[in-house]
Amino acid sequence: MNIKDLDKKYVLPTYARADVEFVSGSNATLTDDAGKKYIDFTSGIGVVSVGHGNKRVADALCNQVSKLTHTSNLYYIAPQAQAAQKVVEASGYDMQCFFANSGAEANEGAIKIARKHGERDGKIKRYKIITLNHSFHGRTITTVKATGQESMHNYFGPFPDGFVYADGIDEIASLLDDHTAGVMIELIQGEGGVEPQDREKVQKLAKLLKAKEIPLIIDEVQTGAYRVGEFTASQAYGIEPEIITLAKGVGGGVPVGIVMTTLKEVLNAGDHGSTFGGNFLSARAVCEVVDILNELKESGELAATSAAFSEALENFYVAHKDIFSSRVGFGMMCGLRTKDAQTLSNIINFARENGVMVLKAGRNTLRFLPPLTITKEEIDEGFKSLTLAMSRL
Ligand SMILES: *Cc1c(COP(=O)(O)O)cnc(C)c1O
Repeated sequence: MNIKDLDKKYVLPTYARADVEFVSGSNATLTDDAGKKYIDFTSGIGVVSVGHGNKRVADALCNQVSKLTHTSNLYYIAPQAQAAQKVVEASGYDMQCFFANSGAEANEGAIKIARKHGERDGKIKRYKIITLNHSFHGRTITTVKATGQESMHNYFGPFPDGFVYADGIDEIASLLDDHTAGVMIELIQGEGGVEPQDREKVQKLAKLLKAKEIPLIIDEVQTGAYRVGEFTASQAYGIEPEIITLAKGVGGGVPVGIVMTTLKEVLNAGDHGSTFGGNFLSARAVCEVVDILNELKESGELAATSAAFSEALENFYVAHKDIFSSRVGFGMMCGLRTKDAQTLSNIINFARENGVMVLKAGRNTLRFLPPLTITKEEIDEGFKSLTLAMSRL
């Protein structure tokens, strides 16, 4: 049976898959089962930060799994401790890490920390978590409820109580009360449509929450691992949150989620855990990926790549102002708003047929999340194909 039929027969139909099957990749270039090449402006939704088939990551992982893949968190795990050090040092914050396996799971951990912190004096139960409308925090029962999108709350209830949605950063202050355990936001909403928050407003909110001793949780599952130029978007925004979650790009394709927090005393042995979290495989991946990205940042290559991508995107945008209304985002987390939402799926499909992969976000945003290692040649090639795709609209 061919792969498409096999998938249809045995895999639950939770994804509307595009009609393509990739078999290999090299940096930002993918190859399908017929040998056709594509430029990947998606990096697997912001995951393959260091490119497909990265030799350093492959060697590190082969070396690691030939020794140990997993022993459980009952024992010390050298790459986990090392990955924690690398991540904390890259962030510059005085934090400790908990290792999970996905973004949603990292956010679950963050919510648990905020809620346990909220019970600290035992008098008032602080349990409410404020999130934003149009946010995205994951697919577990709790994180789907944390997600400020009504359409995702249609089934699956009853949900855990205590999630409150603000219409924007401005509205959060008026929603705080004695029961608020935390505020969780994305600094640039990814799935919601590449929507950056205002820097000053975020700084003001962070200050207010500090004064009230309410933890600020920044969901950096998409923005983290240098996606927007700094290791975390929190650094770029000049804030010091109590909790940061990472996933997607920090493992370079190996499933991993990380909760980092300044609240080191909240969780005790037995309060939280994970069988797989931070095992030799995923932690080794984090070590290698963070090393590679640190080097890219320090050499100035990351900034140069980001500038080249922005310039190419700007040129493309200017040439297609009849279709796009604005350019949004930062660094290599960016997008173009289409004037007409209907056109967006045509663009994505024509782009794929013309050999370039792009993403949708929100209702009408064409989203770009290229590997942070994408070359100038790959950028040019990708926009050339995208321009051809536009001529078919
Ligand atoms: C992708 C994403 C998640 C969910 O991550 P999973 O690994 O799919 O669980 C959570 N928050 C944000 C901001 C994301 O972009």
